[in-house]
Amino acid sequence: MTARLLEDGAPLAVETHDARIGAGPWARWLASAAVPDESTQRAERGRRLAQAGAVSRVIVSEGSIAARVTGTTGNEYEVSLAADTVPPSAWQAAVRAARGHGGLERAVAGEAQSVHLAHLLETRVGAHLAPTAREIRRSCTCPDDEPRGACKHVAALAFAVADAVDRDPSLFLLWRGCPPADPVPADPWRAGALPAPRQTRALPTGAVLRRLGRSGIRAGGVDLADALGRAYDAFAATRAGPA
Ligand SMILES: [Zn+2]
Repeated sequence: MTARLLEDGAPLAVETHDARIGAGPWARWLASAAVPDESTQRAERGRRLAQAGAVSRVIVSEGSIAARVTGTTGNEYEVSLAADTVPPSAWQAAVRAARGHGGLERAVAGEAQSVHLAHLLETRVGAHLAPTAREIRRSCTCPDDEPRGACKHVAALAFAVADAVDRDPSLFLLWRGCPPADPVPADPWRAGALPAPRQTRALPTGAVLRRLGRSGIRAGGVDLADALGRAYDAFAATRAGPA
């Protein structure tokens, strides 16, 4: 997997103008884990920053989301959200278990946000698809000393990326270290259309006898192959002749 620079580094446009940013479960988990209390003044300022396009140069990679957030006074801050990733063996087990289950297959391909995939990881291999608020490491270069590191710039980044996850769920998988599985192949047991039958062509008279060669069986003083050859020629002449 490679790091992805979103929008070529341009500010992320947040399309949601609701009080709550992040509609799907993965987007919600990202926002609520990064911003433990979404009802604070800081969270509200972060929401407004995200909606104002203050979050740019967003790089999503395994275990990390980093960006530049421009504050209301024009100062620029380097912000990141880090969390330990899902173990590769756990993810591979989930991808295998998802085979044949349409909704889960779309989820492991990063095409849809799924609560069931998180449940599958939890119950099968004891891994967490989403980190908890405590498991997230927040970092910002601003002087705010919010005890958990959840300053308004961190909130802005979380909301902006949550909104992006609603458009492209694979961003969440990338952050969690879960390489999206290849899109679901067609059912290998279902054959495609049959090829058109080849044109059949009558063999020339005696072709089989010529291919087989001499039989070694004598009939009427000649080899059986020669006797049959003469017989076939006679039959063919009869059928081809005038009725
Ligand atoms: Zn900050």
